[in-house]
Amino acid sequence: MQCQRLKKLARDWYQKVKEDALAPARMMELIQKHVNQCPICQTDPDLPEEIEKIREFIRAPQPVVKSEE
Ligand SMILES: [Zn+2]
Repeated sequence: MQCQRLKKLARDWYQKVKEDALAPARMMELIQKHVNQCPICQTDPDLPEEIEKIREFIRAPQPVVKSEE
């Protein structure tokens, strides 16, 4: 991810997804919206792959497992 703005936005949105303040599908829409109007994101060859990773990540949140026994 080359775009610092998207990095920051994604972090903010992900925080909201974790807090249940934003639906994962909505976060993907917001990412797509940013990409559509951002020249840096549009020329980033790795971005589609990274967006896919984000999609997988927010659809399958890791449960917090405590193993302190
Ligand atoms: Zn961007």
